[in-house]
Amino acid sequence: MRVSIVVPVYNEIEVLPKLLSTLERVMAGTACDYEIILVDDGSTDGSVPLLKSAAAADARVKVLFFGRNFGHQAAITAGLDQASGDAVAVIDADLQDPPELLLDMIELLNHGYDVVSAQRTGRDGESPVKRLTATFFYWVMRRMVDERIQPEVGDFRMFSRRAVIAIRQLREQHRFMRGMVAWLGLKEVILPYHRNARVAGTTKYSTWKMLRLAWTAISSFSALPLRLTIWFGFFVTAVGFGYAFYSIFAETVLHSTVPGWTSLVCLNIVFSGATLMAIGLVGDYIARIYEEAKGRPLYVVTESANVAARQAPTTRGVILTVDDSHERQTEAADRV
Ligand code: UDP
Ligand code: MG
Repeated sequence: MRVSIVVPVYNEIEVLPKLLSTLERVMAGTACDYEIILVDDGSTDGSVPLLKSAAAADARVKVLFFGRNFGHQAAITAGLDQASGDAVAVIDADLQDPPELLLDMIELLNHGYDVVSAQRTGRDGESPVKRLTATFFYWVMRRMVDERIQPEVGDFRMFSRRAVIAIRQLREQHRFMRGMVAWLGLKEVILPYHRNARVAGTTKYSTWKMLRLAWTAISSFSALPLRLTIWFGFFVTAVGFGYAFYSIFAETVLHSTVPGWTSLVCLNIVFSGATLMAIGLVGDYIARIYEEAKGRPLYVVTESANVAARQAPTTRGVILTVDDSHERQTEAADRV
């Protein structure tokens, strides 16, 4: 069995040596042939030369370099596009996801599952705010988007070959891998684990990036926010009618005068805000349609190491240079 391990990397110089040695140690304990596909998401901290030397030292270490930061989800996509294994794992670079779990995942996959999803039963080294927002996020996702999205399951997963082929068909620009996997409805099994703290470095997911991913997750998988504005519109209109009836009652029965322009100004501001919000929401969906309509590739690989030319998924992402020197060397050695 051949295993591909996809690792998105963004400024992870402190953890890379430990990551590579751990992955090699864990995989050495199996009978599996393997490749590690590191996708550098535009690192600027010296991860690039380190990755190049790791690839030079071991042909099983393959690297795709993006010219800029395309984002975690794009990096995972590029790795999955490149993977040639019968089983394909996605794992974070910071060792928060224990590589030892890969062995359990391989075993479960051999029992006929298409997706093995690691579920966090506990989290170390994460702030209470992050935990709280994560809990809220999974709750909203399951209620609003898709109840097949498992709580506390991140991107640490292993896929069967056919699952990878299925995922590759989904080429949307605004990507939320967990939702895409749930949408496919493949045979999935949950593997509980305790999420460790990062071994070094700091999180590359700023609060802003996290909020953006959460909004992508909701808006890419559900038109519910748009539909909610209709209900909000109904509600506001009903309130308006209610107030009108009250005004008639106040005038004819209570003989009290309508208080004046303060309430009018308040109402005006509130309704203008609500209208703008609704227009903005429609605008956001239109912007997403616009970005989708351009049909651009999801990432651009400007450099690579140990990646064979024939594996280059040119129809999926843009690969500017493909280093096939390793393959040519192997072919030359075969000929000798
Ligand atoms: N990452 C990436 N591109 C980004 C942000 C993060 O490739 O723009 C990678 C990062 O190097 C790590 C993984 O995605 O391997 C998860 O990021 P991180 O550990 O910072 O997120 P957290 O675990 O704090 O949610
Ligand atoms: Mg992390």
